[in-house]
Amino acid sequence: MLVDHVSGETVREACDLVLIAAGFTGPELDRLGLNLEASVTPRATLRVDQSWRVEAVPGSTPVFACGDAVRGQSLIVWAIAEGRSAAAAVDTYLNGSTELPSPLEPYALSW
Ligand SMILES: Cc1cc2nc3c(=O)[nH]c(=O)nc-3n(C[C@H](O)[C@H](O)[C@H](O)COP(=O)(O)OP(=O)(O)OC[C@H]3O[C@@H](n4cnc5c(N)ncnc54)[C@H](O)[C@@H]3O)c2cc1C
Repeated sequence: MLVDHVSGETVREACDLVLIAAGFTGPELDRLGLNLEASVTPRATLRVDQSWRVEAVPGSTPVFACGDAVRGQSLIVWAIAEGRSAAAAVDTYLNGSTELPSPLEPYALSW
């Protein structure tokens, strides 16, 4: 079953195999054991707080996330900047402070 994105019409075609080549479509949230409703943004990415911690993770061990899993499909420069920022947040969590650079806040926009 296919959906024509121009007309919105649903089309049924018989076939033996369907390959989906959609690139990155989002993190596999069902494997994370999260409270999905509380942990997911409207874009179906991980919801993090200002310290890059995934919200609503069960248990006391913090989980930090960044990059496409948080931002959604994006560019490598954002993933690198977010990775550096998340590393600083982890360092702060572990040591109380950090001297690592933190170039971005979560969900910062490019405009
Ligand atoms: C086809 C394609 C082309 C692209 N072209 C460009 C481009 O030309 N320029 C550009 O700037 N960006 C491009 N991007 C986007 C860029 O690749 C991503 O924005 C960037 O790689 C995101 O980095 P990340 O570290 O957030 O995620 P990823 O690079 O996806 O890294 C996530 C890692 O986590 C691993 N992983 C997943 N689940 C688990 C698990 N349970 N346990 C352990 N490890 C796990 C994965 O194997 C992966 O190695 C492209 C993306 C795609 C899909």
